[in-house]
Amino acid sequence: MDRKKKRPVLCGLTPGELRDVLEPLPAFRSRQVFSWIARGAPSFSAMTDLPLPLREEFESRFFLYSGTVSGRLEDPDGTVKLRISFPDGASVESVLLSDGEGRKTACLSTQAGCPAGCVFCKTGSRGFFRNLEASEITEQFLRLRFLGADISHIVIMGMGEPLLNLGELRKALDILMAPEGLGISKRRVTLSTCGIVPGIRDLADRGPPIRLALSLTTADEALRERLMPVGKTNPLPQVKKALLYYQEKQGRRITLEAVLLGGINTRRQDADALADFARGLDVMVNLIPWNAAEVPEFEGRPLKEPGIREIEEFSAALEKRGLKVTRRLRKGRNIAGACGQLAGE
Ligand code: SF4
Repeated sequence: MDRKKKRPVLCGLTPGELRDVLEPLPAFRSRQVFSWIARGAPSFSAMTDLPLPLREEFESRFFLYSGTVSGRLEDPDGTVKLRISFPDGASVESVLLSDGEGRKTACLSTQAGCPAGCVFCKTGSRGFFRNLEASEITEQFLRLRFLGADISHIVIMGMGEPLLNLGELRKALDILMAPEGLGISKRRVTLSTCGIVPGIRDLADRGPPIRLALSLTTADEALRERLMPVGKTNPLPQVKKALLYYQEKQGRRITLEAVLLGGINTRRQDADALADFARGLDVMVNLIPWNAAEVPEFEGRPLKEPGIREIEEFSAALEKRGLKVTRRLRKGRNIAGACGQLAGE
């Protein structure tokens, strides 16, 4: 199917594009439609302040969304995972996280599958299908919002490597952050990358000025290349230079994320290498104990979750080197909705 020949999907249009698509209608009509989309209108017929003939015309000319919710799972801890399927067979997963204090965060995917192939990640072990379009990224947010949640934060940490689809992601964020729509604050959006050097530089130069997290996992270059093949073409010295450039341009603290794999990257020397890598950068470290996922064995042995003591000792070693360390709460593990467990299945 030629996806380009499809009818326009309105939830993926910025206010300016929507105005162009709806021409010759007056601008106030496109503002009305944009506002309806931001408020989560489920269909054109729900846009009750538009004349009925216009709503009927829209039904025949456009799509409001292009996907359907093909799966929904809820974890007793409050996490909800949706699987959204698109007409060409691509499926992604999106997660709604609650922090217990009322804060709701949407975790969005940017690709169906992922070409990066990190060995500890279920998405990476399933291969790559395609990049998502802007409409397919905004649709995930809107469908999570349909669940009745007042979502204030976004993390781009679902399926895919966001900096390999930055153009469409940028457009989706333009829509989600538009003051005339949802108005999500740029300070409340965090993008996590596995370390794509040109993408970090592009984000530094052209924005948007959102928060950046690097999925470092280990600063032992040889081990990193084995765990994260993307390290072979994006070596750590270049990644660090790109982060310094980002910080110079954006002036923002960066998060270094380390997925802790039991008995693999939690040694004292790993903590030291990480602290050395962080020198000169304004960072905080977020430790993410690996969540068991169906992934192939790593060099002939199964991956395992780190023990509590192992996590504590690693954390203490980093703090001793002067780093600020946080530990990510384990959320959504019962529904395979936690970090590294998404697969669109
Ligand atoms: S961890 Fe992120 S970048 Fe790595 S394979 Fe998984 S989705 Fe892709």
